Amino acid sequence: MTASIRPEPRAGVMSIAPYVPGKSKATGGGKLYKLSSNETPLGASPRAIAAYKACADHLELYPDGTSTALREAIAGQFGLSPDRIVCGAGSDEILNLLTHAYVGPGDEGIFTAHGFLVYKIAITAAGGTPVVVPETNLTTDVDAILAAVTPRTRIVFVANPNNPTGTYIPFDEVRRLHAGLPANVLLVLDAAYAEYVRRNDYESGIELVATSQNVVMTRTFSKIYGLANLRIGWCYAPDHVCDALNRIRGPFNLGGPSIAAGVAAIQDREFTESAVAHNEAWLPRVTAALAALGLVVTPSVGNFILIHFPDVDGKRAPDADAFLSANGVVLRRMDAYGLPGALRMTIGSAEANEATIAALAAFLKV
Ligand SMILES: *Cc1c(COP(=O)(O)O)cnc(C)c1O
Repeated sequence: MTASIRPEPRAGVMSIAPYVPGKSKATGGGKLYKLSSNETPLGASPRAIAAYKACADHLELYPDGTSTALREAIAGQFGLSPDRIVCGAGSDEILNLLTHAYVGPGDEGIFTAHGFLVYKIAITAAGGTPVVVPETNLTTDVDAILAAVTPRTRIVFVANPNNPTGTYIPFDEVRRLHAGLPANVLLVLDAAYAEYVRRNDYESGIELVATSQNVVMTRTFSKIYGLANLRIGWCYAPDHVCDALNRIRGPFNLGGPSIAAGVAAIQDREFTESAVAHNEAWLPRVTAALAALGLVVTPSVGNFILIHFPDVDGKRAPDADAFLSANGVVLRRMDAYGLPGALRMTIGSAEANEATIAALAAFLKV
């Protein structure tokens, strides 16, 4: 036996930079405001929590492998066919399943410069080649995507709105993108923040999925529904795409408590509306308060904002991050997203938002 021989991962795997989640600890002692992972400050619906707890006595049973109750609840809420919904352990799993089903060695997958990191990881893990296209004003640029399409392109990811920029493209632009793509290219619309968007020209993509053969919309229970810890995501897709996903996913990819809590959460419209109202109240308030401090904030339609720091000694994003962290406020560094001069702040509770604004005011005065 030769000690130096050992199993080696497929080509590309070790070139992937591991995904680094938002920090959950500050360096100081006292109170902690974690605004680094776009989690809701309102928790989950009490009905979802009750449904989750009710599963505690039956942990020995396998869950329903097709998540029927959840697909039906989602379908009921959005007026969709449950047959065209596939649920996943977070939308991360759906994004990975889609990539592994359609992308292999030699294939290309397109996403934008400051797009969600999971796209690049999924494409590389599948053996494909990630193709990064520029954005315009930190916003998805449809022409740039179309210009990057080659005969090898198999998948295009667009987060709308995008994380971490918070920007979105109107649905006319999504339609123009779809119209310009070859019919064999899968367009994935990641609508993780769709519920937060309050714009007349925005659509999450349901209609485009319903009327085409190469568009998938992904959604999550991790954000507005406050169930990130249970890992629940889903997609609405053409029949043939659902068929492919159902062949490669784990046969029991969602746990029973996730299915039960998801059903209760999506039916608790009042709770969801209160979460939207909280964001609608605080997003403009925080944006205006930070602008008043002289910071540049990218206008966001999500539950988070991108804050740009001055390129001045002692005032850069890493300095702000260290200062905030020492004062119990944890935001997200953006180096991995190609935005080293910015921090991303999730809209938190009233108290967390006020504390962050006050800490940033103190930082800028230091
Ligand atoms: C948070 C987020 C998701 C959701 O991920 P889950 O796996 O469902 O928790 C998906 N896409 C984007 C762009 C996100 O920011």
